[in-house]
Amino acid sequence: MIQDIFPNEYHVEFSWKEPQAEDLCFAFCKGDVLERLEREELFLPTYAELADYAQKTFYLFRVDDRDYFLVWLKDDAIPEGYDWHPMRLERELKSKELKFVEFTANHLDIWYRANRFCGSCGTPTEHDRKERMLRCPNCGEMIFPRISPAVIIAVTDGDRIIMTPYRRGKYRGYGLLAGFVEIGESAEETVRREVMEEVGLKVKDIRYYGSQPWGVVGNLSIGYFCRLDGDDTIYLDGQELTAADWYTRGEVELENEDYSLTNDMICAFLEGRWN
Ligand SMILES: [Zn+2]
Repeated sequence: MIQDIFPNEYHVEFSWKEPQAEDLCFAFCKGDVLERLEREELFLPTYAELADYAQKTFYLFRVDDRDYFLVWLKDDAIPEGYDWHPMRLERELKSKELKFVEFTANHLDIWYRANRFCGSCGTPTEHDRKERMLRCPNCGEMIFPRISPAVIIAVTDGDRIIMTPYRRGKYRGYGLLAGFVEIGESAEETVRREVMEEVGLKVKDIRYYGSQPWGVVGNLSIGYFCRLDGDDTIYLDGQELTAADWYTRGEVELENEDYSLTNDMICAFLEGRWN
């Protein structure tokens, strides 16, 4: 999955640091990231290349011995050789490590941007120097990184699984039922509610499969398998889903990718490891 970057190691522990010339930097603009294309591979700018364009910098995290920073640019100017690249596309031009750090840096960028001002009193927030936290100097409000838990659900019935087909260019892709955990709900209760809302079915034997940070939208995805309980007739909720159906093993061919929890769960079912 996207977070599995072994042998590289991700270190999220916060410390107060100033960027050094060789550190790698992220700049984002409307879902795009600043990168350089070189021999069919994308690369991030170093701080030395971006320093003249920087308005503000934030320490993000470390991978192995390399520090990564977030840079907010002064204006639209960008260094020569660099361009804006879409985060969700051009996967074949990115190393696995780059895909992961890109999503993760984006998650932090969303949070820093959304919390420049205190939500309680409107005063500009300040950065704490000991932990990843923003503080309001007026009312003392403490703001911690926001992560939204969401469940991904594999509903099975013997040799069948419920999937949601979609088209991405010339590919036919498959998703699973999914939804956000609501306030006051356990993740297992979300599974029951979402399955009922989206396809009108009852489920039992809810089992945790695994989880995954999904920084491009600020989520933590939590995967569950469960089994049909009773009637198998799907009633689609037209507002949430346009298609969902039962698929048997052997009926489905998956796009070759090894980074999403959804894909991992579908593979686990198709290969008979989970049901
Ligand atoms: Zn305040």
